[in-house]
Amino acid sequence: MSTAVVVGSGPNGLAAALTLAAAGVAVTVIEANDTLGGGVRSAESTLPGLVHDECSGLHPLALGSPFAREFDLAGAGLAWTRAPIELAHPLADGGAALHHSAAETAAGLDDASWSAVFGPLAARFDTISEEFLQPMLHVPRHPIHLARFGAYSALPTDLMARRLRTPAARALFAGTAAHAFRPFDTPFSAAIGVALTTAAHRFGWVAARGGSGAIADAILTRCAEYGVKLETGRRVDSLDELGPVDLVMLDTAPGAAARICGDRMPGRIRHAYNTFRHGPGAFKVDFAVEGGVPWTYEPARSAGTVHLGGSWQETAAAEKLVARGQLPEHPFVLVGQQYLADPTRSVGDLHPLYSYAHVPAGYQGDATDAITARIEQFAPGFRDRVRAIAVRTTTDMTRHNANYVGGDVVTGANSARQLVFRPRISVHPYDTGVPGVYLCSAATPPGAGAHGMCGFNAAHRALDRL
Ligand SMILES: Cc1cc2nc3c(=O)[nH]c(=O)nc-3n(C[C@H](O)[C@H](O)[C@H](O)COP(=O)(O)OP(=O)(O)OC[C@H]3O[C@@H](n4cnc5c(N)ncnc54)[C@H](O)[C@@H]3O)c2cc1C
Repeated sequence: MSTAVVVGSGPNGLAAALTLAAAGVAVTVIEANDTLGGGVRSAESTLPGLVHDECSGLHPLALGSPFAREFDLAGAGLAWTRAPIELAHPLADGGAALHHSAAETAAGLDDASWSAVFGPLAARFDTISEEFLQPMLHVPRHPIHLARFGAYSALPTDLMARRLRTPAARALFAGTAAHAFRPFDTPFSAAIGVALTTAAHRFGWVAARGGSGAIADAILTRCAEYGVKLETGRRVDSLDELGPVDLVMLDTAPGAAARICGDRMPGRIRHAYNTFRHGPGAFKVDFAVEGGVPWTYEPARSAGTVHLGGSWQETAAAEKLVARGQLPEHPFVLVGQQYLADPTRSVGDLHPLYSYAHVPAGYQGDATDAITARIEQFAPGFRDRVRAIAVRTTTDMTRHNANYVGGDVVTGANSARQLVFRPRISVHPYDTGVPGVYLCSAATPPGAGAHGMCGFNAAHRALDRL
């Protein structure tokens, strides 16, 4: 029987473990943290009984993941749930709401250009996502659908926003595009926004019932069926620690993979890993809020996600400053109200509120007040409802998970080059150049998210070569 060690238990590490184990490989997962799950963990971070998502909170790309389908994670207990409105974007004079249907969103925005752009993409999202959830260098099975998606994705966000007619529609798109953590005038900076918006219209901006930890729990349930062994509280620093195994899957950042492989890694690949670029950081604050958030923009009171970026131009200016290493006076803040989709996370009228601001890489200051003030700006009276907070700085973020270098929660800058070729230019992006050793983290295609597709693809590459 072949043997494998998976280093790291994020969704990609666990997806790799499960895929290998299901193919008959004896797998052991080694995790540095005392708990499993990496970016998909939940905890009572503020007050007893309130379930907060420690990292990933909302999952427009996870529901349709081929990995989740192949292993029937729903059958293993993973249930997705949606708030009445997917996403709200309050503005000084009203706001914009993203509904499950592109047509309903366009009607609310009074902007037919929204459904003209996103309606056809959402209708074909299953074939489109099949293409972008694998390495970019492949012969597409659906070239025409992909071309339309690619034509929007390749644009700078500034140009993509101009395809929409009204200021509210532009602001709404800017908020989803900001998930790329990229300046809006750079090529391909629209790609993540196009993918997330389209996925929201296809599947919804969903939360996992019981907390994001339920994603890890479902994969672990399947892993147990195949006898995967688990070891926590052990950080791997070198391949030499692992003894003789046929396969090693590294659910780590590229720099860490280079250190773990040491001299066994060819110099050019080591160089590529050591010069892999990380993006800006996230500064996270979880709140326990009594009575929910008193948003002025009514639809935000029913939305699973709320983006606080202001107009398209304001979001663009904030993202540009962050990329230059400065904290804007009004940073882009994402607020997660997962409890609206999943009331089991609340205790009576006390609710767990999730938020993070985009901050410069390795930001050493305290953005708690900036985040609180941003929410208060759109929800006067919010401060008075806060009963407890839990803060995670960029330093805490890296300490909690070594993959989030400098607080980079998406494991690698989404530059044009790294969107297309990550972690390096290669037709085999999972290969590390060390026989039997593969990189399987979000630093590989298709990138960040709790979809497990990096691990799933890497495991198939490893099995092909075994
Ligand atoms: C604050 C925050 C918000 C996010 N929001 C969302 C969201 O809403 N939706 C979404 O889809 N995604 C979101 N993400 C991103 C998502 O969580 C990640 O893209 C995803 O978890 C990546 O999975 P992974 O398996 O590649 O790595 P990770 O989940 O980062 O896991 C890597 C694991 O490897 C372990 N490890 C690393 N090095 C070693 C070592 N040397 N030895 C042993 N173990 C090691 C780490 O401890 C960690 O457990 C968010 C992330 C953060 C932090």
